Order: sequence, then structure tokens, then C-alpha cells
Amino acid sequence: MGSRLWAGWILWSLSLSGVGWSGLDIEADWFGGSWGPTTPSLSPYSDWDIKETLHFTKKPGTPWIQKPVKRVLVTAYTDRPTIWTTLRYRSVMRLAQWYLARCRIRIDIPKLRVLPHKTLTHKRLVRWKVPRPLIVSKDPAETLLLFTHDVQYYWGRGSQRRRYRLLGVSSTVWVEVKRNHWLKRHAVWTRLSPVYTTLAHELGHRLGLPHVSEPYRLMVTGSGVRGSLTMLWTSFLGYMAPQRFRFTPQECLTMHKTLHKQRKRRHKKGKR
Ligand SMILES: [Zn+2]
Repeated sequence: MGSRLWAGWILWSLSLSGVGWSGLDIEADWFGGSWGPTTPSLSPYSDWDIKETLHFTKKPGTPWIQKPVKRVLVTAYTDRPTIWTTLRYRSVMRLAQWYLARCRIRIDIPKLRVLPHKTLTHKRLVRWKVPRPLIVSKDPAETLLLFTHDVQYYWGRGSQRRRYRLLGVSSTVWVEVKRNHWLKRHAVWTRLSPVYTTLAHELGHRLGLPHVSEPYRLMVTGSGVRGSLTMLWTSFLGYMAPQRFRFTPQECLTMHKTLHKQRKRRHKKGKR
């Protein structure tokens, strides 16, 4: 608790001194107008709280629902192995694994494969087409976890077009599996930040969950946090104790439904 507390207070005072709320945000709002392209993000790359995360995720939490365990298939890549060290990757994955296990959803921790620098981003923007022969399975429900340095992209048209800087994003990506042969896959981009719940949040989107604005929910978004003092405060407390964050039983069931639908689709495809 000690080190996380310190990191928390440092972030807190930086936020108050006008650097911005981004250090405490789970993510910027996709449609929010207040999130300008110049909003900086705080990224003190520190391994201070990794030990604590690895410690509490060792113990399984009480499941939030009773259902047969479902599996979400993932592979993982990074083009920034200097910041996405094995230890950091492990701790972020272990945390996501811990939350999902409580929803009776299993996620394995695959080997983090290293790609050349800037494979996943171009001029700090995420690439929706990755020109690399990534190893992807035959399963179209597979999700690529892409760990990178920046997660920025353009949203909107004309004068509404803005560049957004997020902690993570959940979308689809085209992957060049062979020369001129592209495959579409689900993808979750995550950049390194002190907010370790980002990966779980983005996996929530991947499995069909929308944003909410209630305390201690993993699907909280940046605008919800900025819009309410209670939310800001609980996000801050939650930041220091990520084990307090959760998916609701209803959200767990929605994720099960998404995985179930995809399995059914896959079976149908196989029969044809
Ligand atoms: Zn989100």
C-alpha cells in the first residue's frame, strides 16, 4: 500500500497543479468535447506497485457469478519492449486475469511477442492496419493485445476532427498475415500508465460492455470521473487499491453472452 500511496499522492498533486486529470482517468470519453488534443498524460514508468499487484492477484477472489467458465482467446504483442518489460506485462495481465476470473472468464497469459519499433503506431497514432505477419489463430474471435507507447487516434469529421490521446482503445485491426493477405481481428491497445485497470476496461469493451459512471466500476470512463467529485474521489481511492474495482454480475453475464454468441457463430462457420 505504501508505495502506491506515494505514487497516488504524487499524481494527485500533479493533477492539482494543472497537469490534468489524465493520470486518474480510466480513459477519455470517446465523444467528450473537453478532452483536447493537448491534454498531457502522466506516465511515470515505475515498478513501485508491481509487487503489490502480483501479491494480491495470487489469491482468487470470490466469483461474482456462478456459471461454467468461458475462455477468451488472446495473443500479445509489443513494439516497445523497453517500457513493456516482462514484469510490467505480467502484472497488468495478472490483474485483468484476476478481474475476469471473478466473472468466471478465463484468460491465459501468452508470451509477449516483440515487434519492431513503431509497428503498432505511426506518428503516435494507432495503426488500424498492422503491416506485419503477426501470428494469429484461425479463430476469428481471437483478440490481439497490443502493448505500445502511445494510444492516439483521430475521431470525427471535418472541423470536428480531433486527435484523442487515450490510455487504451478497443477496436478491430487488419493484420497482414501473408503478403497482401489481410485478416481482421479484435484488438485492444494499451499504453503504459499508472492506471493498471486499463486492460481490464478495454477487455470489457471487447466483450460488449458500455461505459458507466458509478464508483468502483471497471467500465468507468474519464468523463464520468471528471464530471463528479464522488467519482473522482473513489477513482483516486481505487487507483491505490485496484482490488476494489469490479465488474457487476450483470456485466459478467453480458460478457458471457458475447463469448457464447461468438462460439455459436464459429461452429456454424465450421459446418459450412
Ligand atoms: Zn472505455
